Amino acid sequence: MRIDLITVFPEWFDSVVNLGVVGRAVRAQQVQVKCWNPRDYTLDRHRTVDDRPYGGGPGMVMMTAPLSAAIADARADGAPAKVAYMSPQGRRFDQQAAQHMAKQDRIILLCGRYEGIDERLIDSEVDEEWSIGDYVLSGGEPAAAVMLDAIVRLLPGVLGDERSAVQDSFMDGLLDCPHYTRPEVYAQQSVPAVLLSGHHGEIERWRLKQALGRTYLRRPDLLEQRGMSPAEEKLLAEFLADTDHHQE
Ligand code: SAM
Repeated sequence: MRIDLITVFPEWFDSVVNLGVVGRAVRAQQVQVKCWNPRDYTLDRHRTVDDRPYGGGPGMVMMTAPLSAAIADARADGAPAKVAYMSPQGRRFDQQAAQHMAKQDRIILLCGRYEGIDERLIDSEVDEEWSIGDYVLSGGEPAAAVMLDAIVRLLPGVLGDERSAVQDSFMDGLLDCPHYTRPEVYAQQSVPAVLLSGHHGEIERWRLKQALGRTYLRRPDLLEQRGMSPAEEKLLAEFLADTDHHQE
């Protein structure tokens, strides 16, 4: 996959593309990441990309010309791609969206700054708008980094063990179960005995029970959306009895 970033702070992505899972995927050429800086498409000495808003008011607005030139070069540099604008007004990004994007050959992520981008550029160049949550960031870069990370870890072969992504929260409409590693006893708390039993069937059953229980307690909305099989309903009832919670 190829991910292009339109950003006035390409250095913002240095650690994103060098470290951890994404860094490994970049080195293994499972994903290519390329930045395009709108400042490289300015003609003035100060490399100006913003100007005062028409109608007055605080802040600055990103101008159309440097952005459209950067987007045009990005578009021309490979397979056709949608331009996604990082925006608090966009559709909420979630695991389903990440899964969908991970199936695309290419995507261009447009990072705004200041008060945002001249609306005419959005109207003419942007195919979709994505928000990472109901709060306002000072730039689209952190949002693009979040989306990039969530997408790249889903690309085939990127995670060492394909099962890791499948077991993650939201993949099956549930939150993930709790995890434990050595030592067996920490601060007088033991690892649940079933995880040491070597019984794969029992371990799977325990994990599903914990995932159902956690989702019920922390995100009942997810469980309602997903539904449960009769066997899962029984497991959840067991979880609630074990943990002294009562089903509503
Ligand atoms: N005035 C804009 C508004 O209220 O809708 C906010 C502009 S914000 C200070 C600057 C840039 O940060 C935006 O153009 C956008 O690219 C990015 N941004 C801010 N919050 C975001 C969020 N929740 N999700 C995605 N991008 C965001």
